[in-house]
Amino acid sequence: MSDNFIAPKPKTGAPYDTIIIGSGPAGLTAGVYTTRGALSTLILGGSKWGGQLMLTTEVENYPGFPEGIQGPELMEKFRSQAARFGAEIKLEDVEAVDFSARPFKVNVGNVGYVGYEGKSVIIATGADTLWLGLESEQKLIGRGISSCAPCDAPFFREKRVIVVGGGDSAMEEALVLTKYASEITIVHRRNAFRASDIMQKKVLANPKIKVIWNSEVAEVMGDIRVMGVKIKNNQTNEVAEMPIDGVFVAIGHSPMTSIFQGKIELDAKGYVAVKDHTKTSVEGVFVAGDVHDHHYRQAVTAAGFGCMAAMDVEKWLESLKT
Ligand code: NAP
Repeated sequence: MSDNFIAPKPKTGAPYDTIIIGSGPAGLTAGVYTTRGALSTLILGGSKWGGQLMLTTEVENYPGFPEGIQGPELMEKFRSQAARFGAEIKLEDVEAVDFSARPFKVNVGNVGYVGYEGKSVIIATGADTLWLGLESEQKLIGRGISSCAPCDAPFFREKRVIVVGGGDSAMEEALVLTKYASEITIVHRRNAFRASDIMQKKVLANPKIKVIWNSEVAEVMGDIRVMGVKIKNNQTNEVAEMPIDGVFVAIGHSPMTSIFQGKIELDAKGYVAVKDHTKTSVEGVFVAGDVHDHHYRQAVTAAGFGCMAAMDVEKWLESLKT
């Protein structure tokens, strides 16, 4: 296809061939493929576009970047690639969907009621941060409690912080924090990490990082900002107070599916239920990325799912013509 190729736009009043909800690696990759398949494509990217890589610093495992690349820079590249082939990208939040009849309706909020119509939809809304669920946590989010070390670590220069969790995210948060904080303690509820070997090794070899095993945060102390935590050893039930300045919560994510409840089938954990590769319970509505994949959850797998969903949309729209 020539460099000048641009996907068509729908005629006035006509639905888009496809509306993609979400603008992380899955949504934007889907957009690259649908536009190159000459489908008129609207990407509703959300006011916080780009997904979780926007909150990451160095990405070392995305193929094609042997020296690594910054997360936001990688997402800019995804975005400009989708735009290059004619995807219309609007940074609007979807508030409601109507999948009861085709064309599907997708409404965005903020400035009154706006409805978009699509012959098909690709859901690629990703997953959001999980918090500990402590009352004392909620009031201090943004006041010493964070879920994003790449965003907030510079505020903790020469301070003491804890990271909660034992997965790759917790390892990554701890490693980012070593550039700023004076002391990082990982608090993990079991006696072994679930993170990949390479990340565990990096963490355990870093002299700035300590680990408290078999323990959970029972309370975050402080009124206006974090002053410390109460840590409970879940083997002995002993509770110890620890003065610290920051808490980084890295215990996983939950799928962004609240607007789809009752509209398509979700699984017990709220992830979109998948049928036959990228199809959902509603014919014409497809899914891609972390919003259905709680197993791999990598940028490259999300991008792969975006490609698959786009190819399935193309094939499905084609099948309607025969
Ligand atoms: P995760 O793998 O699900 O790990 C979550 C961690 O938090 C687990 O260690 C879990 O403990 C702990 N946890 C869960 N709920 C908790 C609670 N209420 N209180 C205390 N601890 C709790 O999530 P993730 O680390 O965000 O990673 C998600 C996926 O993304 C993984 O597939 C990971 O490999 C990938 N990822 C990759 C990279 C990278 O390659 N650079 C970076 C980040 C994430 P248990 O172990 O006891 O269950």
